[in-house]
Amino acid sequence: VIKSATRPPMRLPPLPTIRDIVKLYRLNAAKQLSQNFLFDTNLTDKIVKSAGNLEGAYVCEVGPGPGGITRSILKAGAAKVVVVELDKRFNAGLRLLSAAAPGRVEIVNADILTYNLAKALPLDLAVPWEGDPPNVHIIGNLPFNVSTPLIIRWLEALALRTGPFVYGRTQLTLTFQKEVCERICAPPRSSQRSRLSIMSQYLCRVKHCFRIPGKCFVPKPDVDVGVVHFTPLVRPRIQGVPFKTVEKVVKHVFHLRGKYCRKGAAELFPPERQDLLEELFAVSEVDPTVRPWQLTMSEWDRLAHAYWDICQREPWVSDYDFRTMKGEKFEVPPMPAVGERHT
Ligand code: SAM
Repeated sequence: VIKSATRPPMRLPPLPTIRDIVKLYRLNAAKQLSQNFLFDTNLTDKIVKSAGNLEGAYVCEVGPGPGGITRSILKAGAAKVVVVELDKRFNAGLRLLSAAAPGRVEIVNADILTYNLAKALPLDLAVPWEGDPPNVHIIGNLPFNVSTPLIIRWLEALALRTGPFVYGRTQLTLTFQKEVCERICAPPRSSQRSRLSIMSQYLCRVKHCFRIPGKCFVPKPDVDVGVVHFTPLVRPRIQGVPFKTVEKVVKHVFHLRGKYCRKGAAELFPPERQDLLEELFAVSEVDPTVRPWQLTMSEWDRLAHAYWDICQREPWVSDYDFRTMKGEKFEVPPMPAVGERHT
């Protein structure tokens, strides 16, 4: 038996280069799908290496395009790659690859925003959540207008252990516009700390792997790109509060990023019930004069719990949303008498 460390990389038979495939099949980048291709094998190998050891892995690649990253995944020894690509023009090039690696490439023409990844791979790959991550990976160089809504969708799926997370703590390796990548990975007190930092980091260990200058893509986008690796945490850093509730608290508090966190949090409650705002900060023991970007994860955890406790006691609070119901009439129950208040 050859040990995996010494096993040679899985060679593919000679194939036309990705640049040639693009020429051969006249795959002009479609502007409306924000297509920017990577032709440089060193770069596609580096992205794939960021995912970790792919020997025998099952990979779902999102947006393979002409297949540069797909080739690197196959070379890294993946047992199977399911490629989810919206644009059928790439099928011919991807079929070439499938013929070169028989039984290892499955082409799915679908929109990744609606495709159910829980069905993409065999369910017997699933492993217990508390153990090591499964040998299942998601890798993708997606357009920026897809990758940001997609990561929020996947973070919710992660919290619910649905979609790609029916297999366990499936790891993700994805590209983002450099600024978005910095926001995802920003630590507390950093100038980039934002809603995306909290939502990503309460559920995952995130790593900014490396930056790819825009000039490495064809055609060249206006921005640089960052590669982020996500490993779902065994125990989220905010537990026992639904994802949507955490998201609501984080969204409101960050709404006024440069102001005291009390200011954004005030919008979680109607103006006539600011006693609940007092309760939120008293119970969570968070300093209301700290700025949202300075809050630590443990402070976010306490804020989310304090808000969730209020919602459970006074369910109408969950339905109140200052930002979406401006001008709308909202029936606010009267404030309890002084002796009955919670603060
Ligand atoms: N992976 C290739 C590379 O690195 O050279 C192509 C990257 S290109 C930035 C993004 C790819 O995602 C395109 O092939 C595009 O057609 C595909 N795509 C865009 N939106 C998609 C969606 N909603 N679902 C699946 N694929 C999508």
